[in-house]
Amino acid sequence: MNPLIDPFGRAITYLRVSVTDRCDLRCVYCMSERMRFLPRAELLTLEELDRLCAVFVARGVRRLRFTGGEPLVRRGFLDLLHNVGRHLGRGLDEITVTTNGVQLAEFAEPLFAAGVRRVNVSLDSLDPTTFARIARRDRLSQVLDGIAAAQRAGLRIKINTVALKHDNAHEIPDLVKWAHGQGFDITLIETMPLGEIDEDRTDQFLSLTRVREDMTSYWRLTDLPDRTGGPARYVRVEDTGGRLGFITPLTHNFCEGCSRVRLTCAGRLYLCLGHETSVDLRAPLREAADEETLHAAIDAAIALRPKGHDFQIERLKTPATVRHMSVTGG
Ligand code: SAM
Ligand code: SF4
Repeated sequence: MNPLIDPFGRAITYLRVSVTDRCDLRCVYCMSERMRFLPRAELLTLEELDRLCAVFVARGVRRLRFTGGEPLVRRGFLDLLHNVGRHLGRGLDEITVTTNGVQLAEFAEPLFAAGVRRVNVSLDSLDPTTFARIARRDRLSQVLDGIAAAQRAGLRIKINTVALKHDNAHEIPDLVKWAHGQGFDITLIETMPLGEIDEDRTDQFLSLTRVREDMTSYWRLTDLPDRTGGPARYVRVEDTGGRLGFITPLTHNFCEGCSRVRLTCAGRLYLCLGHETSVDLRAPLREAADEETLHAAIDAAIALRPKGHDFQIERLKTPATVRHMSVTGG
């Protein structure tokens, strides 16, 4: 079967799948306290998600990352993972999960049993009060218990931290030291203008170029060539021995080698995190029994893939896209 190659010659080998837009936290940069979730009929069923994953693997996707919303709140998520696990070693190299960690204590072992070996856990503060302010829920201890359980279960862990000017800027060096002390990689993320939230994003935006410059006054950072086909650039912090990533969509262009596309929980395929260009795969999935129609819809979508994103810092106040990260899946 033909591999998926976009108009700029980039092979699509990575699919990020949002399995729900629901979440048990309400992070201030991600969604409003009164976030309205999609009606259930609009969500892809577990069978539909499984079918789409199979089609993408057949077309050359080697890595699948499940995300949300919060993937661990979707009922039947483990069954989906077990089913998708049949592709491991048969075209698929890896299944990973991005989670807020709240329910990880319960899920760590089942995730490992389903074939997951790496998880990304989002953690923006180690201070309970700051955590509760950012996540609008007091759940730090559950997240830390979840991380410990994931370690015990044998899962490799990467921490994701959104850098926020007022809330956690001062804590970033401590978060990096803590993560590296536990043997985890950590990636810092700039806030992206996705979806309506309650706050002013320009007020929260913290340039990671600045953070990195500040760090060089007290740490030795060595650039690493590591690429994951995505937006992160990595350095080694010589003083801690750990790996630190920077995702800087607003200050640095990362599109050139991008191999990833995103499927929303409602079945829209987004070709780029920062572009509205998307194609509905739910209708062909539901209407056509034959796989050809589905393949044709995916081909048509990939042919529309833009060269790069167009986020701009001046536009931070008004979202560049109306969708939320919780729908597209980060
Ligand atoms: N709920 C899971 C979690 O928090 O890890 C998975 C979904 S969440 C949308 C995926 C990642 O996107 C998280 O690391 C989160 O911090 C990040 N994120 C959410 N909204 C963002 C925004 N507007 N700008 C930058 N990162 C964002
Ligand atoms: Fe939920 Fe993740 Fe969004 Fe936070 S970032 S509200 S945990 S989906």
